[in-house]
Amino acid sequence: MKFHFRPGVDTTSHATLRLRKCALTGMLAAIVGGYAAPLQATELDSTYRARLLSAYSEFIKAIDGNQLVWKDGTKSALDDGQGVKAFDAWLANPDIEDMFQQPYAAGDVTMPPAKESDPGRARNEAFFNTMYGDCRKGETDKQLVDVVWLPTKSGKKIKFAKANGAAAALAAVSKELDALPATFDQYLFPSAGTFVCRTVAGTNRVSAHGHGIAIDIATKRAHYWRWAEPGRDGPVAYKNEIPMEIVRVFEKHGFIWGGKWHHYDTMHFEYRPELMPPEANTQGVRQ
Ligand SMILES: [Zn+2]
Repeated sequence: MKFHFRPGVDTTSHATLRLRKCALTGMLAAIVGGYAAPLQATELDSTYRARLLSAYSEFIKAIDGNQLVWKDGTKSALDDGQGVKAFDAWLANPDIEDMFQQPYAAGDVTMPPAKESDPGRARNEAFFNTMYGDCRKGETDKQLVDVVWLPTKSGKKIKFAKANGAAAALAAVSKELDALPATFDQYLFPSAGTFVCRTVAGTNRVSAHGHGIAIDIATKRAHYWRWAEPGRDGPVAYKNEIPMEIVRVFEKHGFIWGGKWHHYDTMHFEYRPELMPPEANTQGVRQ
């Protein structure tokens, strides 16, 4: 089975569905063939296929079996056939399917994320390069557009990717955050930045900032796992001061939050509508 599930991550419905599907397949095989065939569950869940198509319809034409068909006719494999990866391999070299291995759960954080629970932190670089360009080749910066960050509170222009409605989503976030009471200002501006062509600290993977789809809000009240001292509950003690009111606004518009990662980065928000479908696309039904 390709997916594995971790404590603290809301996966109940998909896990249950997949198990039901497997059990049914096995039962049918037993009835038809007279023996119980090995259970197989290699395909990306149909929910996630639909989300890919919906989130990235600007670029994706179809998903056919294991092939994602881009509008220019090229294809990418969803599954690299390497099976379930251990955490470090999953993070370092995820295929497209692996990006869904840890489903991102919307809603308020009430406890520290479970060990190695980093939903959304695994990105297939080629997948994002296809849509937003490879910043190391100078392809991304020319696709960026201006977004006014907090029109009345800050008014500063920041750069964000235009593709897939990313900049439009950030503009909607900006407008809503701008209307929050002044007590929230310390968390929101000055923004610590959006586009920068760099790798994730300690790795050779291009950061979501290099794709122009991530924003760091103000650093003043931010916490980052690499800055933290080892804590009593393990090598990383979770810390967060970012109010859930801010997280809710971002999630509503298709952004995931780095505060939901065991390897937390609480000022970091990233446009990932395949993991956090915008409310407008789900007609108010959160998944
Ligand atoms: Zn960031």
